[in-house]
Amino acid sequence: MKALADIVGPEHVLTDPDLKASYETDWTGRFTGSAACVVRPGTTDEVAAVVRACASEGWRITVQGGNTGLVGGGVPVGGEVLLSLTRLTTLGDVDPSSSQVTAGAGVTLAALQAVAREAGFDFGVDLAARDSATVGGLVATNAGGIRVVRYGSMRQQVVGLTAVLADGSVVSRMAGLEKDGTGYDLLGLLAGSEGTLAVITEARLRLVPRYRARAVALLAMSSTTAAVDVLPVLRASLPSLAAAELFYAPGLALVRKHGGLPAPFPEEHAAYLLVECADLVDPTASLVAAVESAEGLVDARIADDASGQRALWAYRETHTESISAEGVPVKLDVSVPVTSLPALVDQLEATVAGVCPGARTIVFGHVNEGNLHVNVLDTGSAAEEVSDAVLRLVASLSGSISSEHGVGRAKVPWLALSRSENEIEAMRAIKTALDPAGLLNPGVLFPLA
Ligand SMILES: Cc1cc2nc3c(=O)[nH]c(=O)nc-3n(C[C@H](O)[C@H](O)[C@H](O)COP(=O)(O)OP(=O)(O)OC[C@H]3O[C@@H](n4cnc5c(N)ncnc54)[C@H](O)[C@@H]3O)c2cc1C
Repeated sequence: MKALADIVGPEHVLTDPDLKASYETDWTGRFTGSAACVVRPGTTDEVAAVVRACASEGWRITVQGGNTGLVGGGVPVGGEVLLSLTRLTTLGDVDPSSSQVTAGAGVTLAALQAVAREAGFDFGVDLAARDSATVGGLVATNAGGIRVVRYGSMRQQVVGLTAVLADGSVVSRMAGLEKDGTGYDLLGLLAGSEGTLAVITEARLRLVPRYRARAVALLAMSSTTAAVDVLPVLRASLPSLAAAELFYAPGLALVRKHGGLPAPFPEEHAAYLLVECADLVDPTASLVAAVESAEGLVDARIADDASGQRALWAYRETHTESISAEGVPVKLDVSVPVTSLPALVDQLEATVAGVCPGARTIVFGHVNEGNLHVNVLDTGSAAEEVSDAVLRLVASLSGSISSEHGVGRAKVPWLALSRSENEIEAMRAIKTALDPAGLLNPGVLFPLA
């Protein structure tokens, strides 16, 4: 460990169990493992030197940002050096001519949004873990969130990266070129690589216009099918559509219980769709016009002021915390072709009950991408069986076992449900080429050697 302390300073190498503890367990409390030490470099050069030192000793490395990941990818299996990037917080000035900004890997999403907004821009990715999730983690997981319907996932926001490879060498493309046809797309490859190919130390990010005029509607729908069917209507008539989020009565009951929120409607409904529009001019009238004739609409609440909008968003955004307040859930993040979403929702409860009677299934998600977050509480010793049953159901509907959280350690056994043998072999070949000794994030994406 002295070699690491010489690089980053002894105060940034943590070996005391109490100081390491918060790095060793994930946000859900489900994944935990002991690190040999936690190292906190402050620059790309220090990251490179730490990785070189680990490589020369054959020490395996677990890469961690804000530790908000939900698939156990950022916590050690046991004995790794835990490389925390949270000190890489340099945030450059917004360049208005390119609408881009450079951010260190440890910059939180909230800090990035604040700088962008101050300069009259916004950032295209947003999610509820914004106060802790970091730029490095967002890129590494190709995070999605609530704005994908308008701006795409994290990969679409990246125009440059600096990253340290497993041998400690540094690759950097930070000019922010919007067009670059020179060979393999390394940026696209590292986005979503979950720390298995390189350690990201900074990113050049695309910004989007800031639209201050907003309208939010909470729609009570007669069924999931009605919620899915209204989406193409909204997309076609509302270019300002910025979010379309789905949830159900069991999740609503939990957010009300843990957040002390009032009932949004006098009665319970089959499905709830939260829709947001953002524009230069007030989009409320066009939102109302678009939804009022929607088939299957049973009730609606519209908010055109900031506090009303926050109140409606709270019903959706506090789902994850409220579920965790009930216990440690089996968390599955899946997607299916959007037309199969109603079939997935319909079959979920019976599928879970088939392997774990008495378990509680809470689902919510991003409807535009057919993305459902499946949370199962009270699974006892049947967590694996529940995951297996749900993921096989998803695969039978031509879906993906991981929509936006990544594979991490949680979904390694099921990767072949979403990827063919040849695809997995190609991915392994890339991993072996860039990290032949398997030092970076062992057990993530591929089984432990
Ligand atoms: C309340 C809540 C809501 C959430 N909502 C969403 C959502 O809507 N959409 C969504 O996509 N996710 C969501 N998440 C999951 C999580 O916030 C994202 O996965 C986020 O991108 C993780 O960022 P992080 O900095 O916390 O990464 P970590 O949790 O620290 O790490 C995640 C993965 O990225 C790797 N990694 C981290 N930093 C680096 C780096 N610098 N270089 C290389 N690899 C790195 C880790 O090794 C690990 O595999 C949510 C989480 C919570 C707790």
